[in-house]
Amino acid sequence: MAVIYDRVALIGLGLIASSMAHAMRRAGVAGQIVGTARSAETRAVAAELGFCDRVVETASAAAEGADLVVLCVPVGAMGALARDIAPVLKPGATVTDVGSVKRAVIEAVAPHIPVGVHFVPAHPMAGTEQSGPRSGFAELFDNRWTLIVPEAAEAAAVDRLEALWHALGAHTERMEVEHHDLVCAIVSHIPHLIAYTMVGVADDFRRVSEQEVVKFSAGGFRDFTRIAASDPSMWRDVFLTNKEATLEILGRFTEELFVLQRAIRQGDGDHLFDYFTHTRAIRRGIIEAGQDTDAPDFGRSTKPGSGR
Ligand code: NAP
Repeated sequence: MAVIYDRVALIGLGLIASSMAHAMRRAGVAGQIVGTARSAETRAVAAELGFCDRVVETASAAAEGADLVVLCVPVGAMGALARDIAPVLKPGATVTDVGSVKRAVIEAVAPHIPVGVHFVPAHPMAGTEQSGPRSGFAELFDNRWTLIVPEAAEAAAVDRLEALWHALGAHTERMEVEHHDLVCAIVSHIPHLIAYTMVGVADDFRRVSEQEVVKFSAGGFRDFTRIAASDPSMWRDVFLTNKEATLEILGRFTEELFVLQRAIRQGDGDHLFDYFTHTRAIRRGIIEAGQDTDAPDFGRSTKPGSGR
């Protein structure tokens, strides 16, 4: 495949950045990949694994001269990063991000982007509960969706970033920012919150011993514990920055839960049966759409050996 960007800077070298690097190498679409991370430890691991052509010490050193700069840090850290790299951005370069929330990232990053540099926010709807540079793998984005939120970006810059995501194996869809944040609250953010809560409840419920929780945890609860192992900084930032949409969906979820609670209390089996028949049909629709490993961003099972 032809090179799409001569030089790509990856800032933050965790699951998403390292997977992008592996996938860019697989597709041959980046002339050179330069990476950096906050800690010396992460930089050393990335250098050892060799998924970047060069690992440098600072975000500015990575971004200088890059044709594409990808911000791959937690949502709450993106604004300060954009401010730091702004003076070195090359005219005509594109800055993008992979953050799970878009309104907050755009508000934090866009004011720092110099005139003549394109800003094209994006969000790959793929992930695992693993984090760090050892957790990435080239297939992470295969057949998954990357949502692109072009806002006012120039069409050619958006087309080029979209071509990169296609080369990484993803489907893409362009989306308006508020819609993105609402969709992600439904398919990813609230499901994570429910998993965190359920694991917390089980932990609180001391009458069920820890051994029993581990020993008898079949599919449902085990999946919750896997999802609840996701990176705490990332998920803290998601809820702090997608407050409006997550609170709206959480309100709807609570209402629905009360209806089911009443059906259970009143022994209304018909209601429960109809409800579960409806949800089963939704699951079948997801499988038919080829998104059957897990809901997007909801923690695809970790490949053996891919975790740190
Ligand atoms: P990760 O594996 O935890 O890696 C995060 C990277 O960001 C690390 O290199 C870390 O540096 C750096 N970092 C953390 N806090 C920072 C700060 N305050 N300032 C500067 N750098 C900081 O995370 P990830 O899963 O790749 O997620 C990265 C982004 O992708 C997040 O915005 C997340 O919302 C988004 N995303 C994640 C998923 C998912 O399922 N994981 C899916 C889609 C999108 P050190 O290692 O040096 O600490």
